[in-house]
Parts: sequence; C-alpha cells; structure tokens
Amino acid sequence: MNAQGLYIGERSASALAEEFGTPLYVYDCASIARRVQQLREHMPPGLSLHYAIKANPMPELVRFLGERVDGMDVASAGELQTALDNGMAGADISFAGPGKRDEELALAIGTGVTLSVESPGELQRIADIGQRLGMQPRIALRINPAFRLKAAGMHMGGAASPFGIDEEQAPGVLQQVATLPVRLRGLHIYAGSQNLSAPHLVEAQNAIFELAFRLAGYFPDGIEWLNIGGGFGIPYFPGEQALDIAPIADNLDKRMAESESRLPGCEIVLELGRYLVGEAGVYLCRIIDRKVSRGRVYLVTDGGMHHHLAASGNFGQVLRKNFPLRVANHVDNPEKETVTVVGPLCTPLDLLGDRVELPKAGPGDLIAILQSGAYGYSASPLEFLSHPRPEQVLL
Ligand SMILES: *Cc1c(COP(=O)(O)O)cnc(C)c1O
Repeated sequence: MNAQGLYIGERSASALAEEFGTPLYVYDCASIARRVQQLREHMPPGLSLHYAIKANPMPELVRFLGERVDGMDVASAGELQTALDNGMAGADISFAGPGKRDEELALAIGTGVTLSVESPGELQRIADIGQRLGMQPRIALRINPAFRLKAAGMHMGGAASPFGIDEEQAPGVLQQVATLPVRLRGLHIYAGSQNLSAPHLVEAQNAIFELAFRLAGYFPDGIEWLNIGGGFGIPYFPGEQALDIAPIADNLDKRMAESESRLPGCEIVLELGRYLVGEAGVYLCRIIDRKVSRGRVYLVTDGGMHHHLAASGNFGQVLRKNFPLRVANHVDNPEKETVTVVGPLCTPLDLLGDRVELPKAGPGDLIAILQSGAYGYSASPLEFLSHPRPEQVLL
C-alpha cells in the first residue's frame, strides 16, 4: 500500500481492475513461491510438502505449485483430475474424504493414487474395485484420533467423526486389511485446521507420531508413508499473529530423527492448504452505491458473499469478524469514515465488512479484501442470485 493504493505483486489494484474488470480474485505467484521457499528453509530436508488442493483449485495455480511441492492431496475426482491435468503424477497424490463414489475410487486406483481409507466399508469397496480392475490399490488408513487440535489446546476424549477410522477401531481394521488384496502404505492423521499456535501444533504432531509408533506393530511390512496433516493457520483478524514455524521445524527434526529408527524408510508428509496460498490472494470489488440508513453508512459493492463466503463470516466462523479490508485505489483522502460494506444480494448475510474504519470512499472506488487466496472462489455459492462469476488471475 502506498500513495497510489494497493499493489499486488508488481501490479496496482487499479490497473488490475481496469484490465480484468471487477469483481476479481488476484493471486500472486511470487508470494506463493516465497512461502514454499520459507518452508523448505526451515523444515527438515526429508519432510515431504503436499498442497491440499481444496484451498484453491485454480488450474494455473495448481500447476505453479505442482512444480514446487512434493505432492498433492485431493478430496474428489474433480480435484484429482485437476492435479493430474496440471502435471502431478498419480503416485504423488493422496485422496481423502468421506463418501468417495465407486467411479472416484476407480479413477484413483487406476492412476496409482494413495487412497486415505475413511471407513471399513470403504476399505471393502476399494478392495473389490481393485480386483475388478486387476490392480492393487495403494491405501493408507485415515485415523480419527482420540485427540483434537484446538485453538485452546489439545482436546482429549475423541469425538465422533465422519472422517477416518476411530483410533480404537484401527487395530481391528488393520487385521482386516491384511486379508485383502491391497497395498497398505501407511497412515493419514489429520488433527485440525487454521491454527496459529506453534505449541499446540507441536503437541498435536507429537501425539500423531506417538499414535503412528503405536500402530506400527500392525504393519507387517512397516509404515512407508505417514501423512501428519497440517493445520498451519494464517492471521485473518485483528490481534492475530502470524504462526512461528521455527519451533515446529525444531520439533519435527526430533520426531523425524526418532522415526528413522521406529519407522525406518518412512516418508513423512505435511499437507498444507491455506498456509501456502491464503495470503497470496486478494479479492477486489468496486463500490456501486453509498447510502446512509439511520445514521449508518453503507458502501454497496459489485462483489459479495456469493463470491467470498468466508469474508461474509458464513464459512466456519462462530462469531463474525471482519476480514482485512482496504480501499484499494488511489484515495489520498486522509478523512476516515466508519462504513458497512455489503454486496448486492437480497440477504443480510451479504456483509463484507461490518462497521470498519476506512478512508472515505464512494462509487467507483475499489475495495480489496486481503487473505483471500484460500477458500474463496471455490468455497462460495457462486450461483446464488445469478450474478456473473468473478474473474481469477494468477500474476
Ligand atoms: C482441508 C484439509 C486440509 C487443508 O486445510 P488447510 O486449513 O487449508 O491447511 C488438509 N488436510 C485435510 C485432510 C483436509 O481435509
């Protein structure tokens, strides 16, 4: 941000809005590359870095990241196809998620993808489809651990979940696996998301390694692949601090040294979504109208919750908070104003900024929502009210 307004990479927001129109998602490659570089510098050299595509499945972005990470995690046949079409080898892809359809399983088995098995029923279907195709499915058991990564610390006690096989059931299921024509590669243990506390992430990773060490005895050929999840968060709201990855890297160094003896030859995978792409994205929309209602100033934009559900507070937030908002174009107005930024939808849910202080702005000016590179476009109800879809640009 300078006197000319907001820059995204080398380009000014105004020029981008002019060239591509609004509303618009802009993703900055250089920022994504820096993030990967920073992880490579800090994390143990043997650690595999995966991208969880559901954070942002834009094909050009997937291709760009594909050249920089060791693998990808997908959650549907559609995401799997995107990964394959953009240069990822099936052997470097893992596929998790409940309710995988037979066609999805067949595509994964046929392309050598590692399937994270979510239930005993799914395990049986995978084995049956593999036999029908004459191929040996590559699988990992996804475990629903008896602990959870919580903002306030580890939650012990083990919640019910549609994801993974309960830790308590894992020994029984592993015995069932031994009787089936599948290649058991390892474990997938994912404890949570959007965490900004290094101590909590360290605690969760330690619990994940402990669990893997405990279950290793049930693997006749040893564990060759361990996906320890991710959960690295990015700061969205006032008062939140960026995650300090140094203590996590130090701890992983120790755990990986330990796993060299306890899980010899095992590949350790860290799967990250928003941490890789979230901060690299900006959503731009243009103010169409400014109105005052009973003393409250509304800026009405051409963007809204139909493009950016997360910024409206309706994607996983319990108490609604404002994403970081800026007036993105040249606004040399030192005068500030408290405004409520809304979209064009006929619902009070269509709220992008609730009573935020911004430089005074009006019709024609641009609003930018930062931290919008993950769970934006693809996590929004784009069809709702039949407005045009926003463009997406990778710089
Ligand atoms: C969604 C998901 C991720 C990515 O989560 P982020 O918060 O974007 O890092 C990783 N692993 C699994 C299993 C997921 O479901």
